[in-house]
Amino acid sequence: MDAMNPVGIVLAACLLIALMPDAASAQTDRTREKPLAGDPLGGRVIVVDPGHGGTADYDDYRVGPGGEREEWINLRVALLLRDKLEERGAQVLMTRTEDEEVALSDRARLAVENEADVFVSVHHNATADPEVNFPIVYFHGNASENGASVMLATAMADRMNQYLFDGRAPVSVVSDHTIFPTAGTGVLRHSYGIPGVIVEASFFTNPEEEQRLRDPEYNRLEAEAYVMALEDFFYQRHPEIVEKYSLVSLPPFEVFQEAGRMSEEALLWKEDYEEGRRLMASDADLERALELLTRSARSFPDSWVAGKAHLARAEIMQRLGEKEQAETIRRRAAEFYVVP
Ligand SMILES: [Zn+2]
Repeated sequence: MDAMNPVGIVLAACLLIALMPDAASAQTDRTREKPLAGDPLGGRVIVVDPGHGGTADYDDYRVGPGGEREEWINLRVALLLRDKLEERGAQVLMTRTEDEEVALSDRARLAVENEADVFVSVHHNATADPEVNFPIVYFHGNASENGASVMLATAMADRMNQYLFDGRAPVSVVSDHTIFPTAGTGVLRHSYGIPGVIVEASFFTNPEEEQRLRDPEYNRLEAEAYVMALEDFFYQRHPEIVEKYSLVSLPPFEVFQEAGRMSEEALLWKEDYEEGRRLMASDADLERALELLTRSARSFPDSWVAGKAHLARAEIMQRLGEKEQAETIRRRAAEFYVVP
């Protein structure tokens, strides 16, 4: 299974390029037919989408313990990113430049109508557990069908980890179907076909991180991480993006939505995972282990243990003789959880 995994191929390609930067810059990007000589960002049409906006009067969900709002952080980082990209010769299209509401479909349309090279949505994350802080990057749909976006997402996660966490954070590179099982996210769904990601660089519900995110210098560092990731991406040849669900179709796995993820039960996402693994190892109570692993995957479906929780669930199903179910879960893990 591993040898056939497209993600492995993507990673191998990344490694190859990393080892041969000169050779790569002399090649031509076949997906977009633009020469890669000179600055890889030069002439690229990049849509930068600062998430949310204009909701301070009624939205009390996207606000940190010290009162900083996600939409403000997103905009600060996005404006710095725009300036850096323009300095490099990219053509940047912003979905908003002020604290105002913009419809999701309009954000995506900007990318589609301008035939953008990439769509990058800038976000920061929230959860009930104040300890949690690590990068999560989403792509749309199935990994095997949306290869270019997976490549962009992996570059984003690596650079965010390097720039904001000294390379020590666990990271999640996951499908948006992990959090919205049937439809995925609006901006990525409506812009499918253009390499696109939603980047949640860090958690503003972590009090120390919230303080850092108020600092313009820290915002600048994050914007720099975006630039580096885009550079990584444009240095490489991109896998094709094929029609959605043309290769793989998986039944939805229902998960807790925003409010549910704030419940007491949801706070146990990591304990549930660890206890489930312990029960599995001792072969003690497989039904209970399955229950705990399933709850972990439901209550924090984009956590850095969720992909492993699904693989463990598959193993239990296999042991219980449910081979078909085990195979479905394994496929879901491979398509939706690229990293870990
Ligand atoms: Zn957001």
